[in-house]
Amino acid sequence: MEIVEKYFPNLTDEQKRQFGMLKDLYSEWNDKINVISRKDIDNLYVKHVLHSLAIAKVVTFKPGTKILDVGTGGGFPGIPLAILFPEVQFTLVDSIGKKITVVQNVAEALGLKNVKAMQARAENLPENYDFVVSRAVTDIKTFCSWVWKKIIPRGNHAIPNGILYLKGGDLTEELSTVPYSRDIFNIPDFFDDEFFETKKVVYLQK
Ligand code: SAM
Repeated sequence: MEIVEKYFPNLTDEQKRQFGMLKDLYSEWNDKINVISRKDIDNLYVKHVLHSLAIAKVVTFKPGTKILDVGTGGGFPGIPLAILFPEVQFTLVDSIGKKITVVQNVAEALGLKNVKAMQARAENLPENYDFVVSRAVTDIKTFCSWVWKKIIPRGNHAIPNGILYLKGGDLTEELSTVPYSRDIFNIPDFFDDEFFETKKVVYLQK
């Protein structure tokens, strides 16, 4: 938890309380429905919470922004971002219902009013969003084919609306499969833990 405060020093007491609750909540839920590898629970704040929050080092979402988290699993990156941006509307979807059960229970226990969690396949969603965030779901080309049309062009942020995808390793080949303007942000520029050594936030501009 201290690691979150180190990189996000302006958290409110409520946000500190909510981040602080995550360890017990995920430990408890993971015993019932496995959403995080057992080994990762011990490193929850680095591997899941801080990794999710790398997106917040790329863009500060404005109140009222609509964000879609595709393939959220147990709620990453959506839940940590929803704590950090309480006035932003988050829709978290996963095709597997029991994962959504975990997300709904965690969001409720945290008292998050800005999270809607739904069992759905990304390609079937009817609504439009300002940004789509995700981690570890599929290759970039397939991902774009699911969500590109659901992104509202432009917007009012420091960067235009688009996709913010958490990825690791060499992305040259994978990114050559999509024609969109992009920027790649190296997470070690934000956080110095060695876990982030090869990790990036891939931004694709709508
Ligand atoms: N994003 C989470 C994380 O990083 O901890 C979970 C990653 S997990 C490896 C991939 C998730 O994507 C799974 O929970 C899976 O059910 C979900 N998924 C795969 N295809 C999907 C689709 N078309 N629509 C919604 N969810 C999907």
